[in-house]
Amino acid sequence: MGMLLALGYDKMTNLHKLAGYQVSQKIKNQEIFAEEYISLVFERISNVDSKINSFISKNHESALLKAKQIDKKIRNNEKLGSLLGIPIGIKDNISVLGLKTTCASKMLQEYVSPYNATVVDRLEKQDALIIGKLNMDEFGMGTSSEFSHYGAVHNPWNQDYVAGGSSGGSAAAVSSLQIPISLGSDTGGSIRCPSSFCSVIGIKPTYGLVSRYGLVSYSNSLEQIGPMARTIIDIAMTLNTICGKDSSDSTSTTAATLDQQFEYKINTVDGVLGKNYKVGIIDNLILSSESQVMETVFKKIDLLKKHGFDVQKTKINYSDFALAAYYVIATAEASSNLSRFDNIRYGFSHNPQGYEWNSYSSHVRSNFGDEVKRRILVGSFVLSAGYYGKYYLKAQKVRNAIKNEFNKLFKLFDVLILPTMPILPFKIGEKGAKPLDLFNLDIYTILANLAGIPAMSIPAGFSKKGLPIGLQILSNEFNEQILIDIATFFENKDKFNEWIPNI
Ligand code: GLN
Repeated sequence: MGMLLALGYDKMTNLHKLAGYQVSQKIKNQEIFAEEYISLVFERISNVDSKINSFISKNHESALLKAKQIDKKIRNNEKLGSLLGIPIGIKDNISVLGLKTTCASKMLQEYVSPYNATVVDRLEKQDALIIGKLNMDEFGMGTSSEFSHYGAVHNPWNQDYVAGGSSGGSAAAVSSLQIPISLGSDTGGSIRCPSSFCSVIGIKPTYGLVSRYGLVSYSNSLEQIGPMARTIIDIAMTLNTICGKDSSDSTSTTAATLDQQFEYKINTVDGVLGKNYKVGIIDNLILSSESQVMETVFKKIDLLKKHGFDVQKTKINYSDFALAAYYVIATAEASSNLSRFDNIRYGFSHNPQGYEWNSYSSHVRSNFGDEVKRRILVGSFVLSAGYYGKYYLKAQKVRNAIKNEFNKLFKLFDVLILPTMPILPFKIGEKGAKPLDLFNLDIYTILANLAGIPAMSIPAGFSKKGLPIGLQILSNEFNEQILIDIATFFENKDKFNEWIPNI
C-alpha cells in the first residue's frame, strides 16, 4: 500500500469519486498502483453494495491478478491500453469467460460462460478490469430492476426507490461510486431508464454499432449493448473500444462509419456551438410527462436557446401505437429466444426421472419468474397461427411508420429532445403488481429501439424530493457524435458529474 499512503489519506478516500479516465491517468503516471486501487474498489463495494444490491457476482481474484499484471506492464514500459486499469462492471446478461451469467434468473443460477462476449474481449484488450456482474430484471424484462431472482436494486439517491431497469445494477453501481463505468443492454430503454433514475449517463448505440455476440438475447432486432458512466469522456472512450464490425455478429453492420472513433477531447462549449446543430423538441410527447419532469426538461431546452442553439418545436406521428408494436415484437422474439432454456441445453440440473416430456418441460420452465412467463405467453400468442397477421405484421408496419417519421425529422433536425422517462423514480413495490403500468413507462425510450437510432440519457436535475430526472437526446443512425457533443455542452454547463448521492 506504499503509494497510496504517499498520496495522503484524503486523496486515498476520494479515489472512488474520480472518473475512469482520471484513474487510468494516475495509474499510467504511476501515482497509484492498479493493484492498490482495485483493492480499494472491492473495499468500497463491500461497504456500499449491501445497501444497493447492484452486484450479482464479483471477480475479485482475477481482477486483482490482472491489476498486478498491469502494474508490471507499466514497470516494463510495455504498450498500454486506452482503458488501463479502469474497473468496469458488466450486466449479468453479457458473457464473461469463467464467470456466471445468470441474467438474474433462477434458470441460469449455475450457468458459467465458456467464452467472452466480443465487447468484453475488446475491453480487456484495452486493459480494462472486469470487476463483476451486475443485477438486472430477469432476462432484461422490466423497467425497475425489481424482477430479479437476486432481489431488487435500490436507488442510491433514496434506497426506498427503484433504480430503474432493466440495467438497474449497472446504473446504481456507477451512481453510488462503486465503479466508474459499466455496460448495460437496451432493448426498449434498459440503459436509459436506469441512467435517468440514478442520474448517470447512458447511451443506446445505433443498431449494429456494437456487437451483440455473447449477449443473452431478449429481442434481437431491438437491442444493443452500451456504456454507462458519470462523465462523457468515459462514455466516449468505452464506446470507441466496444464499437465496430464483428465477424461473430452478422448484424454488426459493415457501414464504413463503424470504423469511426468518436471525438470527445477537443469538445468545448464553443466547439459544440460552432457546429450549429438544429434541435427539435418533440412537443407532443414532452407534454404528457409528469409536471416536475416536464419543467426540468423545459429548463434544459431554455439553456440551449440561451446559448444560441436553433431550437424548434416538432412532433412525431404514430407514437400512440409504439408501445403496442414494441410489446408485440419484443415478446414475439423473446418467446422464441427463451425456448432454449429447457434444462437440456441450458438450465440447472434437475432429475427428469418420473416425468413425461411435457410435464418435465413445464416443471422446469416454471422456474422462470412471473414477468418472463408473461412475455413468453404473450409472444407465443402473437406468433400463433391466425394471429400472426393481426398482431406481428401490424406491429412491423408501425415500426416502419415510426422509422419513416424519424427519417423525415432528421432531414429537419440534427438532434431531438425528449424526457427519458415520463415519471419520477417510484417506490420499490409500488408498481410491481401492475404490469401495464410498467409497460407504459417505456413510451419515450422504445422509439429509438424501434427505429434503430442512437439515444442517450443524461442527468438533467432533481425533483423537489431529490429524485433524479433524465434528459433524452436522439440523433440519426451512426450519429452518436452529435449526442456526445450535446451531452458535452450540458456537462460543461451543469457540471452534472459533480452530482453525487450521499452514500
Ligand atoms: N422495459 C422494457 C421491457 O421490459 C425494456 C427492457 C429492455 O430494454 N431490456 O421490455
